[in-house]
Amino acid sequence: MSSNIIKFLESSSIENPCLVIDMKVVEKSFSKIQKAYLGSDIFYAVKANPAKKILESLNRMGSKFDVSSRKEIELCLSLGIEPSKLSYGNTLKKSDDIAWAYKNGVSLYVFDAVEELYKISDNAPGSRVFCRLQVPNQGAHWPLSNKFGCSKDMAKELLLLANTIGLLPVGISFHVGSQQTNIKKWEKALAMCKEVYLFLKKNKINIDFINIGGGIPISYLEDSYNFDIFSRELNRVLRNVFDNNTPNIMLEPGRFIVADAGIIESEVILVSKKQLNQKNRWVYLDIGRFGGLAETEGEAIRYKMEVKGNQGNKGPVIIAGPTCDGVDILYEKSSYQFPLRLKAGDKVRIYSTGAYTSVYGSNFNGMPKLKEYFINSN
Ligand SMILES: *Cc1c(COP(=O)(O)O)cnc(C)c1O
Repeated sequence: MSSNIIKFLESSSIENPCLVIDMKVVEKSFSKIQKAYLGSDIFYAVKANPAKKILESLNRMGSKFDVSSRKEIELCLSLGIEPSKLSYGNTLKKSDDIAWAYKNGVSLYVFDAVEELYKISDNAPGSRVFCRLQVPNQGAHWPLSNKFGCSKDMAKELLLLANTIGLLPVGISFHVGSQQTNIKKWEKALAMCKEVYLFLKKNKINIDFINIGGGIPISYLEDSYNFDIFSRELNRVLRNVFDNNTPNIMLEPGRFIVADAGIIESEVILVSKKQLNQKNRWVYLDIGRFGGLAETEGEAIRYKMEVKGNQGNKGPVIIAGPTCDGVDILYEKSSYQFPLRLKAGDKVRIYSTGAYTSVYGSNFNGMPKLKEYFINSN
């Protein structure tokens, strides 16, 4: 968490709501993950925050990139990132987009269905492909549900098929769900990968890598966990599942790289009560579910929030966004507490908001879009 962002906010008069990213923290997080998973290939999940500054800096540090659309590929290529460093990691791709990516040098594609596999062989012949497994996502704070992946048995069949229709089967992937704090979910998923891996080996196909996805958590309000202990555990699981013979590992961290590098500053628009003696106050901020805080849906991700300046005694609040939509409520059940003296115009800082915020922001209701600023603290 960067106190330099706070210094920057105190010394400048930028309009709220704004997101400030400290590039030094991005770089530190990348180094941390590089060291913790020595020898593995790191593909930053561009969707978490596709800001040019972030992509450029990670590219300089040797990162590769997990991209999910033609626009994300175009963005990377426009920054001089080699197409050989891109993995087209969305299981949902239009034929035209595959053909375009192929023409522009992208050679690594994911699939989880037979139709997708044929789309790739038709539009990107000879490419390297990996199959995504459907794995349990329970326990993840932002699960990716059953939407992605296929069963082990289907994966075996499709990877064999890939080999016969002119594609190179090179990997198996999964994603345990974003902000997944339960190491057992990786263990289960890796055991599934191992079965497919051994099956392929028996059939004379030696794949290059196991892609263990994203999901690596950060500390939000109440998940205080230790990255070093978590990574030691995950490395132990990686060795155990594969009996000390672990294939190359590919990682696709998104949240872990950028979340802690960002703080949003927002402004209180109104503090109110609906009844004379109501205990809970409603606090309306100038940013909500449609302005970038989409991951508060179902109160899934609980950000740490702090009111700037004089604190005093606190009391319970319901926190909502600024739009005329009834679902634009951030936290109703999560018992947040704000100072009793809170009033319109006060600033509220929302921590660990560098991931999955700026990209979700719309200007629904004519609200200003979340502006992003970058600092480089030393
Ligand atoms: C979103 C996504 C990621 C990043 O996940 P995090 O939990 O943010 O690390 C990685 N891989 C794929 C395929 C994704 O869809």
